[in-house]
Amino acid sequence: LAKDRGRARYEVFDDDLRYRIHQRLDSELALRDAVELGQIESWYQPIVDLQDHKVVATEALARWRRPERGLVMPGDFIALAEEVGLIKGIGSTVLGQACRAARGLPQGVAVSVNVSARQFVQDDFGDVVKRALAESGLPPEQLWLELTESAVLDAIDSAARTFQELRSLGVRLAIDDFGTGYSSFTHLRAFTVDLLKIDLTFIRDVESSDHDRAIVEGILRLADSLNLDVVAEGIETTSQRDLLRSMGCRFGQGYLFSKPTPSVHPEVQFAH
Ligand code: C2E
Ligand code: MG
Ligand code: MG
Ligand code: MG
Repeated sequence: LAKDRGRARYEVFDDDLRYRIHQRLDSELALRDAVELGQIESWYQPIVDLQDHKVVATEALARWRRPERGLVMPGDFIALAEEVGLIKGIGSTVLGQACRAARGLPQGVAVSVNVSARQFVQDDFGDVVKRALAESGLPPEQLWLELTESAVLDAIDSAARTFQELRSLGVRLAIDDFGTGYSSFTHLRAFTVDLLKIDLTFIRDVESSDHDRAIVEGILRLADSLNLDVVAEGIETTSQRDLLRSMGCRFGQGYLFSKPTPSVHPEVQFAH
């Protein structure tokens, strides 16, 4: 009996595994053609000054319009793209779209683009950015790049050189999801950046948790001594905004101000 049960469990596991492998291969094959078929879109979410709700930038967020599946969120394809070597193509597609779209923004409003560690370490990443700027005519000062920390940066020296090259052009650089990923401080030490984005997991309970609030305070103090600006991600309520503002956090982003939208034009729905 035990043996039968064992075999049954094994078969269930086997079917489940086979199904997941199939799904993954299926997604990988479809993702290979997504760029060429024009299925990668950028949506936009504003970043605002917490004092007056003026939009300072808008962040491009990738979406995959997959036939018969609808709109696929980045959580369901960016990691796969990184693993199978498709992030360069997807990343430069989003970068190009964002730079072109940003020409329609008011002066002084930047566009902010997520960049995987994998993209930063590619030899020609500096050229990819310069080309996107040249082709769109966007001034470098109107481009922010957010280094996402999902992958460990191995070639940290060459990435640091790329950072320097981009900063001297006038592009602003941010560390995304700051506080998560064990490489936060390594990155802060290796790269000169302009901005930290505090991960939304620290913002969610910033009012109720003394622990989380202490961490946010620590990040704000650190940013202050390094002369960096800070964006708090994932602000959903006015009371979170009020608290963060009183703590000295300059910028914020979140559903309170606007959800990501398909249009680049920043419309902050919230004005109180
Ligand atoms: P991220 O860059 O940290 O972006 C913030 C994510 O939080 C976005 O999810 C956004 O829609 C969501 N968000 C914003 N405000 C709120 C809020 O108030 N509450 C809650 N619960 N969520 C909020 P999204 O669009 O699903 O993107 C997820 C992640 O995928 C991004 O996190 C980024 O790491 C990655 N990603 C997106 N686009 C790209 C891209 O073009 N290239 C790369 N390499 N990564 C990308
Ligand atoms: Mg981001
Ligand atoms: Mg982020
Ligand atoms: Mg985040």
